[in-house]
Amino acid sequence: MPKDESVYSYSAVLMGSPILLKLFRRDEALAGRVFALIKRYEDLFTVNRAESEVMDINRAAGQRPVSVSAAVYQLIKCAKAASVPPASAFNLAIGPLVKRWRIGFQGDSVPPEVDIQALLAITQPQDVLLDDARQSVFLAKPGMEIDLGAIAKGYIADRVRDLLRKEGVREGLINLGGNVQTLGAPEGGWSIGLQKPFAASGELVGAIEVVDKSVVTSGTYERYFEQDGRRYHHILNPHTGYPLDNELDSVTIISTDSLDGDIWTTLLYGAGVEAGRQWLARRPDIEAIFVTKRREIFLSSRRHFRFTLLDDGYRLID
Ligand code: ADP
Ligand code: MG
Ligand code: MG
Repeated sequence: MPKDESVYSYSAVLMGSPILLKLFRRDEALAGRVFALIKRYEDLFTVNRAESEVMDINRAAGQRPVSVSAAVYQLIKCAKAASVPPASAFNLAIGPLVKRWRIGFQGDSVPPEVDIQALLAITQPQDVLLDDARQSVFLAKPGMEIDLGAIAKGYIADRVRDLLRKEGVREGLINLGGNVQTLGAPEGGWSIGLQKPFAASGELVGAIEVVDKSVVTSGTYERYFEQDGRRYHHILNPHTGYPLDNELDSVTIISTDSLDGDIWTTLLYGAGVEAGRQWLARRPDIEAIFVTKRREIFLSSRRHFRFTLLDDGYRLID
């Protein structure tokens, strides 16, 4: 097994995020291909620029279906399936609400209630109409917008893993701005830090050890603004149009695919600790760590990870 000193790290900034690739061989060419792959997918999925396939779909809302590439179609189809169940807090059609709130961007403030009510009418996932034969997507109402911001990184992290595996990489790690995907087990496992909510970046509450797994954390501390003594963060409740409000500071998912990690962090944010635990009981392939505002940490079965508590201001609950 490789020792620590043989780690080669490659970094870039893509998707507005720091990207880190770790390999146990020196391979600049492969690193270059990984970053090019990430950029190619970013160009398809982004809604932060004028041009992308997702922007083509959004611009044609209420007018016509748009045929898209296999990757975009596949990801939208998967995102719709996760969005449609009535209890789901995940919603791929959340775009107009995200744009209106502008959370974490200049000029963010609480929108008037009437605006939010109006936008709820054009954020319905069942109005995203798919046609498998044409590989096309039609947003049925004018003003609708797909937003893949919560899942694009997970999808891309999985494709990077696939590429590395195909290239014979047995042990490697890609960190796509918080979506960590790993191959193999250097020295028994990868250790991934769990950020302490609302503390300086890099201050940890714990360490998660995994082998061949993705680790994704979503936290209300990541992006928010304050108004009249209240905090408004960037994960919205698609049923109310306001930020999700419950006992959670962060949700971490340990899973094989980082795409599942992305979807499940949002689902479990919406479910909260009690209901979330029941959902997890039916999905042994999905593991979770909840960090609550009361400084409690809940861990699921731990079949697929090990956890070390690093901050004695927190306590484990079961
Ligand atoms: P990041 O990885 O950039 O921190 P997250 O994975 O935490 O982002 O997802 C937050 C982003 O997802 C928001 O900025 C927004 O674009 C989008 N989003 C917000 N609420 C929802 C929701 N309920 N369902 C799906 N996407 C959402
Ligand atoms: Mg994310
Ligand atoms: Mg996040």
